Amino acid sequence: MSGILYLCATPIGNLGDISERCLEILNTVDLIAAEDTRRTLQLLNHFGISRPLTSYHEHNKREKGEYIIRLLLDGKNIAQVSDAGTPAISDPGEDLVRLCIENDITVTSVPGPVAAINALILSGLPAARYAFEGFLSVNKRHRSERLESVKDDPRTLIFYEAPHKLKNTLSDMLKHFGAERRIVIARELTKLHEEVLRFTLAEAIKYYESTNPRGEYVLVVEGAPENINSGGEAWWAGMTVREHVESYIKDDSKDAVKEAIKKTASDRSVPRREIYSAYHGGKE
Ligand code: SAM
Repeated sequence: MSGILYLCATPIGNLGDISERCLEILNTVDLIAAEDTRRTLQLLNHFGISRPLTSYHEHNKREKGEYIIRLLLDGKNIAQVSDAGTPAISDPGEDLVRLCIENDITVTSVPGPVAAINALILSGLPAARYAFEGFLSVNKRHRSERLESVKDDPRTLIFYEAPHKLKNTLSDMLKHFGAERRIVIARELTKLHEEVLRFTLAEAIKYYESTNPRGEYVLVVEGAPENINSGGEAWWAGMTVREHVESYIKDDSKDAVKEAIKKTASDRSVPRREIYSAYHGGKE
């Protein structure tokens, strides 16, 4: 009979957050597959656990994945841990789970800390519907496309970011989401210097003009305004096309009308030219 793969969540800072069950599993498995064996060894030493370790990370996951599957098929029980938090969340893990499923191997989880969820619950922003976006690409075009693709998403958005990229990311977010969008910046969660700061994007950029980002960050961004009213229909449902376009016009410029037509067409999911001719032609 095959063994079991245990996906074990480990602390994201405070070692006291490790669960009793996680310690029990780590203490009894045949092998621990760790993203970084040196870091995991420190964790194991802290809890007086001594089990065989092997590395499993982004760059060896193909060969190591096959090796781990062979051991599991051979009846060995294996725990997988990442450097911190929950495996497979912006960390290696999902490929191994897929391989286990393909090979009819039981996978179970030992749940625990996830930085994204901790930041979300501390943010005070709506937590009922959220989208986890992980790390943005370092490629400028890909980042921009990703931000553009979520700018109208009404769900709360969660991003991971490295300190040296924080300022750029805030500027990119401001370009796509606007200066007034609220953001909660959660830093060093569960650690000594835990900090949760609440800003608009414009305020956040100003703040980091005089503060150097340090430590680990989660960015929780308010979702776009909902396009529906409390009766469950679109807020513009009772409007004529003209009224709808005019509700978006902020000044007398040609660009303001063009932008308003674009937004109206997007709300109604119809081609812009249809809105253009209804608006300029006076039709409905
Ligand atoms: N698997 C992890 C989890 O469950 O959250 C995430 C691993 S990902 C490689 C590392 C990123 O998670 C960091 O760059 C940071 O954005 C976020 N992170 C991890 N620990 C954190 C902490 N204590 N405080 C704030 N963010 C943290």
